[in-house]
Amino acid sequence: MAYQISDECISCGACEAECPVSAISEGDGKYVIDADTCISCGACAGVCPVGAPSEQ
Ligand code: SF4
Ligand code: SF4
Repeated sequence: MAYQISDECISCGACEAECPVSAISEGDGKYVIDADTCISCGACAGVCPVGAPSEQ
């Protein structure tokens, strides 16, 4: 299953640089993950200061 970013996201951008497959981009009010690209590595969850990304 792909990871998703919750509304807790503060748009710091840290996760975008960590994603090995460039699945993360800035969305409207928060960052978003392309579920078809995400390989569920968990790197975004590891770097996020507010714990916004989680596996769905
Ligand atoms: Fe990218 Fe990995 Fe996060 Fe998926 S789980 S969005 S592949 S960093
Ligand atoms: Fe949002 Fe967390 Fe990514 Fe920062 S690291 S943009 S708070 S999901």
